Amino acid sequence: MAIERTFSMIKPDATKRNLTGKIVDRLESAGLRVVAQKRIWMSRREAEGFYAVHKERPFFDELCEFMSSGPTVVQVLEGENAIAKNREVMGATNPAEAADGTIRKDFAESIGENSVHGSDGPDTAKEEISYFFAATEIVG
Ligand code: ADP
Repeated sequence: MAIERTFSMIKPDATKRNLTGKIVDRLESAGLRVVAQKRIWMSRREAEGFYAVHKERPFFDELCEFMSSGPTVVQVLEGENAIAKNREVMGATNPAEAADGTIRKDFAESIGENSVHGSDGPDTAKEEISYFFAATEIVG
């Protein structure tokens, strides 16, 4: 299986509740390696740019407001099958539907404030990584 990189975020609901370490532990325990990480406070405009693909969705404003409401930890994760593995560890978007033992099942507060983000495919992973990180900030 190929070694992949994916983009991950620990969202403001989770940083606010001091859950960064617990979430990183879940990721590392699943075999994912943190090869880049920084804590940022996204501007409204950065959030809108990041989620541009969702701009016609009814929850777009709420999502961008939330994502710029506090600190976020942005990360690049590396490992075998990292994109799918990260999505599996995260769980379904809606915590009420997330499988037992997933991050969202255990930590998310609602379908919007759901603690983590992970890229959904190789093209988005590349785009999302380069939205926040320069190549020199990623150390494998
Ligand atoms: P995922 O993050 O699981 O890939 P989506 O790409 O569908 O999910 O949505 C992006 C983010 O938008 C979600 O993680 C969540 O924070 C927010 N979101 C999705 N659906 C809703 C909704 N119905 N109401 C409020 N926020 C939502």
